[in-house]
Amino acid sequence: MTVDPGTSAGTVADRLTRLRARIAAAESAAGRPPGSVRLLLATKTQDAETVRAALVADAGQPVLVGENRVQELVAKGPLFRDLHVPTHLIGPLQSNKVTAALRWASCIESVASLGLAQRLAARADGLEVYVQVNVSGEPTKHGVAPAQAVDLAGAVAALDGLRLGGFMTVGANSPDADVVRGGYALLRSIRDEVVAAGVPGARELSMGMSGDLELAIAEGATIVRVGSAVFGARPA
Ligand SMILES: *Cc1c(COP(=O)(O)O)cnc(C)c1O
Repeated sequence: MTVDPGTSAGTVADRLTRLRARIAAAESAAGRPPGSVRLLLATKTQDAETVRAALVADAGQPVLVGENRVQELVAKGPLFRDLHVPTHLIGPLQSNKVTAALRWASCIESVASLGLAQRLAARADGLEVYVQVNVSGEPTKHGVAPAQAVDLAGAVAALDGLRLGGFMTVGANSPDADVVRGGYALLRSIRDEVVAAGVPGARELSMGMSGDLELAIAEGATIVRVGSAVFGARPA
C-alpha cells in the first residue's frame, strides 16, 4: 500500500503528529469518541534507536508496539520493557518460538489455529490473544478463513490460560476502497457474533495500516497498526 508523500515527509516526530491528527479526524468522521482508537507502531526492520526516538517523541500518549518476527521481538523486547510499552506479536508464530514470544509479548495477535492456541495456553496464565482472520482470502495472507473464525474464537476463549481479547486482520491489497472496507466490516461482524455468543471481553478490532486506516476506523477499528506513515517506506 502506498503512502501519500505529503504524509511521509518530515521527521518521525512530524509524521507522528500528522498521524495522530489523521486518526482523530477519522474518529470524528465516524462519530466515534476521541481516543477510541489506539495506535500500534509496527516497528519491523526499524532499529532500536529509531524506535526509541519515535516513542520518546510520542511520549504521553497511549501507544503500543508490534513486531512481526519473533527474532526482532526478542532483540527489541528489552527496550520496549524499559519504556513500559505494551508489545504485541503481529506476525505468524512457529511452535518452536513460543517460549521467546511468551517472554516478550503481552499479546499475540496472530492466533489462527487451535493447535497454536493450545500450545500457548499450556504455558501461559491469562495471556491476551487475538484471532487473526484472512478477510480477503488472499493466499499469501495468514489467518483463519472467515467461515471458521467464530468457531475458532469460541474454542480459544474456552481455553484456560488465554484470554480472547479480539480479532486482527491485514486488509485486502486492493485499490478499491469498497473491497478493503468490506473486509473490515466482515471482521467487525465476526467480532459482534462472538461477543453476542457470550465472550464479552473479545472487543478489540486490530485493523487498518498506513494506507487505509480511515476505512478501518469507519468500520470500528480499536487498534490501527502503522509503520511506513511514521518510519518512512521500507526498502522493497
Ligand atoms: C508492517 C505491518 C503493518 C504496518 O504497515 P504499514 O503499511 O507500514 O503501515 C501492520 N500490520 C502488519 C501485520 C504488518 O506486518
